Amino acid sequence: MGSQIRVIAIDGPVAAGKTVVGLKLAERLGFQFLDTGVMYRAITWLALQQAVPMDDSHLLGELARLSPIDLKGHNGSQVVVSGREVSRELRDPDVERHVSLVAQVPQVRQALVMQQRRLAAAGKLVMVGRDIGTVVLPDAGLKVFMSASSEERARRRWQEMRQRGRDVEYQQVLKEIKERDYLDSHRSASPLVPARDARLLETEGLTEEQVVVLILGMIQEVCRGDG
Ligand code: C5P
Repeated sequence: MGSQIRVIAIDGPVAAGKTVVGLKLAERLGFQFLDTGVMYRAITWLALQQAVPMDDSHLLGELARLSPIDLKGHNGSQVVVSGREVSRELRDPDVERHVSLVAQVPQVRQALVMQQRRLAAAGKLVMVGRDIGTVVLPDAGLKVFMSASSEERARRRWQEMRQRGRDVEYQQVLKEIKERDYLDSHRSASPLVPARDARLLETEGLTEEQVVVLILGMIQEVCRGDG
């Protein structure tokens, strides 16, 4: 299945379940998987390390242009930037708080989109992010825009954080998710919006497996030509 589709674009807001669903889908299809969020996080981590001011677009852009990100291991789960493996650090609260500021800089986006398109050139790939269907891969064979209420997404993220041993309040997670959503949707460079030809997938109350099955159904429709 999916033989007529070379790339699948999945977009959506924070904690919509894109990464887990995208990974499972890629495994079922025998496709590669790329989570573009880690690339924005890697540049944010680097900027914090080097004390680059978050409002210096030029310096942030140069940092992204001159620091290619290496995605190693199974499905790019090990992120190497500037010679350091930073997968764990990318989930730091400090990175989380600043990533949407870095991601709104057009020069940063330009540098990362170039890398993302290069990685997609070989095809057979599921790519997840915020602007994949609109900007990075506008010709993707299938575009999905996943969403759920901010409360449900905050609940999922809060549970995930607690499982990782972080002692956080649900209300704080909800506030940060709303702030990040606002910045991601209101920036002028590639704001978070569904592509005109994206299929909207409301995931409220659904399990990850149910969402994967729905997307596999969409692929079948596209392959039959009635999508
Ligand atoms: O998906 P994740 O939460 O890891 O993304 C972190 C941040 O990176 C997002 O909140 C957004 O600001 C930015 N991002 C983006 N475009 C993408 C992927 C992520 O702007 N394609």
